[in-house]
Amino acid sequence: MIKDSPLQKIYLPLFQEKNVSVFIKRDDEIHDIISGNKWRKLKYNIDFVLKNAFKGIITFGGAHSNHLSATSFLCKNHNLESIAIVRGDEDAPKSETLLFCESQNTKLIFENRTAYRVKNSETYLSQLQRQYPEYYIIPEGGANTLGVKGCEEIVSEIDIDFDYISIDCGTGATLAGMVRKLKPHQKVIGVQVLKGKDFISEEVQKWSPGCNQFEIWTGYHFGGYAKYHEELIHFMQWFYAETKIKLDPIYTAKQFFSVFDQIKKGYFPEGSSIVLVHSGGLQGIAGFEKRYGVELFG
Ligand SMILES: *Cc1c(COP(=O)(O)O)cnc(C)c1O
Repeated sequence: MIKDSPLQKIYLPLFQEKNVSVFIKRDDEIHDIISGNKWRKLKYNIDFVLKNAFKGIITFGGAHSNHLSATSFLCKNHNLESIAIVRGDEDAPKSETLLFCESQNTKLIFENRTAYRVKNSETYLSQLQRQYPEYYIIPEGGANTLGVKGCEEIVSEIDIDFDYISIDCGTGATLAGMVRKLKPHQKVIGVQVLKGKDFISEEVQKWSPGCNQFEIWTGYHFGGYAKYHEELIHFMQWFYAETKIKLDPIYTAKQFFSVFDQIKKGYFPEGSSIVLVHSGGLQGIAGFEKRYGVELFG
């Protein structure tokens, strides 16, 4: 069911002009649904749940969450039950992602924004655990110790001596795993997809204290989480035409756009080798197209 993630070199005139080598770590190829970093984060969590004979998993997410769809699918495949605590309104029409979760027998529990905000507090979590003693609770996005550990492998699987590796950041948990496996001369570039100042650096320090081989770019959010500009859509369409690789508008397109932009602007010294992590997320495309009435890949 789960496939390897190959490293693919891509050739475009820009790279030759700027004398850089560019590779893509194809975590999108791991699986159609449990793709990318969501598989990395769930892998050791699922092992733990199976080993300890839990009945199921409870986790959290928004209506379009790649983490929820991955968890639902994996649970069904392992005969585990799943409960998703969803930020949003029960009466609103369900997203493509939530309909998919229901099709995998996931029970959806809706919480309003205020109730959802306390989801990481001790009191809330211990009460939830008392209510569902046979379930293992995983935080939003799979951001726990086992999740971060799984993300170390994005870097340790790569067998070329790259200089830079880029990743799109929501919480920063994926980046926090990646920095642990760098050689001294290597650096991770984290592209923050949410609008605002850098909050990722602090998050990374919580998981991987003392790691400083990374840099966060905050200027490529395109208006904020799940927001986009025409320019981003054009970039995705151009990139697909050139490489036959699909990106998603919420995460990977912003990352790839930013790295290409910085290659143009000369950020990367001549001779650099750069790996872009394709962190998956393609399951969200159908929902995005429906919400915005756009067709991404014709
Ligand atoms: C969830 C997700 C991310 C963000 O991962 P974090 O560990 O929260 O930073 C990046 N890319 C894709 C495709 C995702 O689904």
